[in-house]
Amino acid sequence: MGLKTSKTIRRVLLAITVTAAAILLRVLLDPWLGDRLPYVTLFAAVAISAWLGGYWTAALSTVLAFLASNFLFIEPRGMFSLHDADGIVGSAAYFVSCAIIIGFAGAARRIQSGLKQSRDLLEVTLSSIGDAVITTDVHSRITFLNRVAESLTGWSHDEAVGKPLDQVFRIIKEKTRESAENPATKALREGAVVGLPSSTILIARDGSERLIDDSASPIRDEFGFVSGSVLIFRDVSERRLANQTQALLASIVTTSDDAIVSKTLEGKILSWNDGAERLFGYSAGEAVGQSIMIIIPPDRRNEETTILEKVRKGERVDHYETIRLAKDGHQLEISLTVSPIYDEEGQIVGASKIARDISDRKRAEEALLDADRRKDQYLAMLAHELRNPLAPVRNSIELMKRAGADAALIERARDTIDRQMTQMERLIEDLLDVSRITHDRLVLRKERVSLHSVVSQAVEASRPLAECSEHEIRAILPPQEIYLYADSARLAQVFGNLLNNSCRYTESKGKIVLTAERVGSDVLISVKDNGIGIPGEMLPRIFEAFVQVDQSLERAHGGMGLGLMLVKEIVRMHGGDVEAKSEGLGKGSEFVVRLPILIEEPQEKTPAGARSSGFPVRSRRILVVDDNEDSAKSLAVLLQISNHETRPAYDGEEALRVAQEFRPDVILLDIGLPKLNGYEVCRRIRQEPWGKNIRIVALTGWGQADDRRESTDAGFDGHLVKPVRHESLMALLAAPDGSETQRRFP
Ligand code: ADP
Repeated sequence: MGLKTSKTIRRVLLAITVTAAAILLRVLLDPWLGDRLPYVTLFAAVAISAWLGGYWTAALSTVLAFLASNFLFIEPRGMFSLHDADGIVGSAAYFVSCAIIIGFAGAARRIQSGLKQSRDLLEVTLSSIGDAVITTDVHSRITFLNRVAESLTGWSHDEAVGKPLDQVFRIIKEKTRESAENPATKALREGAVVGLPSSTILIARDGSERLIDDSASPIRDEFGFVSGSVLIFRDVSERRLANQTQALLASIVTTSDDAIVSKTLEGKILSWNDGAERLFGYSAGEAVGQSIMIIIPPDRRNEETTILEKVRKGERVDHYETIRLAKDGHQLEISLTVSPIYDEEGQIVGASKIARDISDRKRAEEALLDADRRKDQYLAMLAHELRNPLAPVRNSIELMKRAGADAALIERARDTIDRQMTQMERLIEDLLDVSRITHDRLVLRKERVSLHSVVSQAVEASRPLAECSEHEIRAILPPQEIYLYADSARLAQVFGNLLNNSCRYTESKGKIVLTAERVGSDVLISVKDNGIGIPGEMLPRIFEAFVQVDQSLERAHGGMGLGLMLVKEIVRMHGGDVEAKSEGLGKGSEFVVRLPILIEEPQEKTPAGARSSGFPVRSRRILVVDDNEDSAKSLAVLLQISNHETRPAYDGEEALRVAQEFRPDVILLDIGLPKLNGYEVCRRIRQEPWGKNIRIVALTGWGQADDRRESTDAGFDGHLVKPVRHESLMALLAAPDGSETQRRFP
C-alpha cells in the first residue's frame, strides 16, 4: 500500500471518527435540543477534522455530518429530507459555516506550521553559530542554551532551561573580582541592547574561569512587548593572549636598541622602529615606503641583491658585518641579520632585518690590536734598550783586563761603564716609576722647596749629556726665589727629563734654554730647544707611555717613551700641568710646566753640601750582607778602598754569626736572604746587648713606603734602594751616629 493511500485512509477514518463523535454528542444532547440546532456539534467536528486532517478530511466530515444529522435530527427523522425552504437555507448555512471553519482552520494550520518552521530554523541557527547564546523569558529564566553556551557554562541545555540566568551565567569583574550585573537582566529592565563591560570573567559550573566579551538584547513580541532576552557571548581569553603577545612583540620591536626593519622582496621598506631611527637618522615617516637602498652605500648595492636572493630561497643571513649609510651621510659599521617573513600560507613575502651598530666594538678591537702591536714593539724596544749598554760595559771590562798599567785606558773604560750603568739605572728607574704611577703607589715627600735649587740640580744632572753633544744650556730664573710645596727630587727628575730630551733630540751644538716666570700664583717653567721638533699630530700623544715620534728600533735617540709620561704625572701630582709646543719637524720644541707657587719669603740658606760633606769620614767596621756574592764582595772592596774594615756574609744565618764575632759599627743588610730574611736578622741583632747601637741599613730593590715602614719596624736605621750610588753610601757613612739616614735615592 502506498504512502498516499494510507494517508487517505487515515484521513477518511479521522473524518468518520470525528463525525461519529460529534453525532454521538448531538444524540446525547438530543433530549434537550430536540429538533433545534441539528448541526451544533458538527461544526466542532469539521473544525477538528480541518485542524488535524486538512481540507479534504474536513470536507468529508462536513458531508458525513450533514447526512448523518439530516437523517437523525431533522424531521421527519430516520430519512434524508431537503424538501422545504427552511431545510435548504439551514443546509446552505451549514455548508457556508463549515466552509468558513475549514478556511480558518486551514489558515491557522499554515500559520502554525510556518511558526514551527521559523522556530526550528531559529533553533538550528542559534545552535550552530560560533558564539554562545542563551535566551530567557521575561523573568530571566533560561529558555534556550546553544551548544557553545553549554560548553562555556558547563550546563547542558536540559539542565539549564527553566533555571534563573544568574545561576548558569555567573560573571565577575576581572580586576576587582566583584560580581558583575547580568547584561540580560539589564536588557530586560531597560529594554535596550546592553554590552558587557570588557574584562568580564565567566565562572563555569566547574569553577573554571574564562574572559568573555558580550552583549544582550531584549526580545519583543509582535506587539512590541518585551517577552524575554537573548544573551550572546564568546571566550576571548585566547584573543586577549594573542593581543597581549602582539602588543609585547610590538613593544620589544619598538624599544629595541637594535634597528629592526622589514621590507618587501623588492626592497621596499615596510616598517622602521625607533632603533632604526636612532641608528640611521631617518624617521619612520621618512623611511617607510622608500627603497632600502637609501641606507646602502653605492659600492655595496650588490650586497642587497645577494641578501634578497637568499631570503627568497628561505635562507637567513646571520651577523653579516658591513657598512651602511646614515641620513647625514656618515658611514656606520653594522652587523646584519636578515630573515624571511612568511604570510599565513607560508609564502615568503618579505624580509626582516636587525642591524646592530658595531662601530664601538670595532674601535675597541682596533684599540686592542693597536695596544697589542704597541706591546710587542715595546718589548722589542725594552730588550734593545737594556741590551744596548751591555756591549760597551763588556768591552770596557775586556779593555781593563788588557790595560795593564795604562791608567788613562783604565779611566776611559771606567767612565764608559759609569755612563752606561747610569743610563741603565735611569731606564729601570723610569720603568719602576711608571709601574708605581699606574698602581697609584708613587708617594711624594713634599716640603718647602726652592725652585732655583731644583732647577740647578736638574741642570747639573744634564750637563754631562749636554757636553757630549756640545749643547749650550742656559737657565734664566727670576732674581727673587720662588718656593714650591714639592718633592724636590721628583721635580728635579721632571726638569732633568725635559733637559735630557732637549739634549737628545737636538743636533750637536744646540741651544737649550730653561726659563722660569711668575704668572699670578703660578710659575711657568719652559724648556726650549732648537732641535728636531715634533710633528703637530704627535703633540697631543707624546705624553702617553711608550709613545715616540720615531718608533723604529733603529731610531738614533734610544729611550723607551716613558720620560714625558712621568713628567706629566709628577707635575699633575704637584697640582700643575705641562704642555708641549713645536712648530713642526726641524723647528725646535718647547715644554712648558705650570706649577703653583707656595710662598715667596726667602728662607735662611743652608750651606750647600752641608748634609753630605760636613762630616769627616772615619774608618768603620762594616758587615756587608747580600746573597749575590759579587754584589757583596764588590761593595766590600769599594768600602775597603775608602778605608773601612769590611766582612761579607751571604745568607741570614751567616750574617748573625759574623755580626756576633765581628761586632760591626755598620751593617749593610740585604732584605731578601736565604735561611733568614733581613728583617729577621735585624730583629735578632737588636735583641742582643751588643746589637743595640749598630747602625743597620737595609739594602733593597724595593723602595716603597710599605717596605720602608716594615724595615723601620724591624729596627733598621735606614733604607737604601739598590743600586746604591757610591756618593750616597759615603754620605751615609759620613753622617754622625744617630742622624737621619733614611733617604731615598731616585
Ligand atoms: P723617549 O725620549 O724615551 O722616547 P719621552 O717620553 O721622553 O720618551 O718622549 C717621547 C717622545 O717625544 C720622544 O720619543 C720624542 O719623539 C719626542 N720628544 C720628547 N722631547 C722632545 C724634544 N725636546 N724634541 C723633539 N722631540 C721630543
